[in-house]
Amino acid sequence: MNNIKVNFPRWASYNVAVEHLIRDGLDCEYVYGPPITKRTLELGSKYAPDYVCTPFKYNLGSYIEAIENGANTLIQIGGACRLNYYGEVHEQILKDLGYNVKFVNMANAKLAKPLTFYDEFKKINPNLNLAKITQATLVAVKMVDYLDKIEDYIRENVGFEVVEGSFDNLHKEFLEDLRHVKDKKELNVIYKLYLRKFKNLEINKPKNPLKVGIIGEYYTIMDDYSNHFIEKELAKKGIIVKRWMNLSNSIFHNEKEEEVKKKIRKYAKFNMGATAMFTIQKAIEYAKDGCDGLIHLKSFGCTPEIDTMPVLQRISEDYKIPIIYFSFDTQTSDVGINTRIEAFYDMMMMRKEKVK
Ligand code: SF4
Repeated sequence: MNNIKVNFPRWASYNVAVEHLIRDGLDCEYVYGPPITKRTLELGSKYAPDYVCTPFKYNLGSYIEAIENGANTLIQIGGACRLNYYGEVHEQILKDLGYNVKFVNMANAKLAKPLTFYDEFKKINPNLNLAKITQATLVAVKMVDYLDKIEDYIRENVGFEVVEGSFDNLHKEFLEDLRHVKDKKELNVIYKLYLRKFKNLEINKPKNPLKVGIIGEYYTIMDDYSNHFIEKELAKKGIIVKRWMNLSNSIFHNEKEEEVKKKIRKYAKFNMGATAMFTIQKAIEYAKDGCDGLIHLKSFGCTPEIDTMPVLQRISEDYKIPIIYFSFDTQTSDVGINTRIEAFYDMMMMRKEKVK
């Protein structure tokens, strides 16, 4: 066994898919950083530039904790915004801090040119086997797809669970079983098994519960800790949560830019970067689809999502749908968030009563 111990920062549930890719595709050990906590954010904030967006700080803190757990090779990805520069800056900061690690920046690879991923993977393990990495990539991509499908079902139903914690416990079991999947056949079996198990969990759903559409920035919207577990708070109030933005939808199941532009042309002519176009498109869809409210989530300092806010305000006025904005930074407190959700809940209930 080689001594390559790889880490990708903690992000939502997706690390199980990265683990598969690293272990079965690259024959390296995958090292988990601990789950994100206050310490992760404190470490990241201490060494990150002050005004950088919050996901950068979470990632930096997560790298440091993974290095403490033994990781010696770190991976970063790219995106359609400042995320593209994260890798270089993270690498430099970690070097300046004296950490002796290899940094592989997948921002150098391009989706349109799959072989560029092979070049980056080779930097992790020069002895990689093309057939193995191809196989493991296909399984990891499918795993992400299944994770997202199961989590969509959870968001629609967890607010009505009869046994408290039943969805959460089954989700943890599902993630643990995914970690031991060896190939696509096993993956399909696990997915079908858990989909059935989730559908068998007892729920007590009223006829017309409140439904909210969550829109916003990539990282914060998907990562529970970063958004202060907002979906769990909504579930406690018996609200269905619709959230299109996840990894598989945003990368593999999205419409072409020109198609999205056509759909949102009343509100925006240009692509404002990162997730902005999808945010607008989905806000319109949720409003048309009978959602009772929209919740916009973003990290502090996320310029593409700041640009969407006046547009979202217009959508809210045109469709008479309430909207609330949350911007998370290192200082955001749970108390403030819960108070605002409480008030938003009352507003949605009043509106629902009126339109009955
Ligand atoms: S989408 Fe926004 S918060 Fe996320 S990395 Fe890009 S600029 Fe930063």
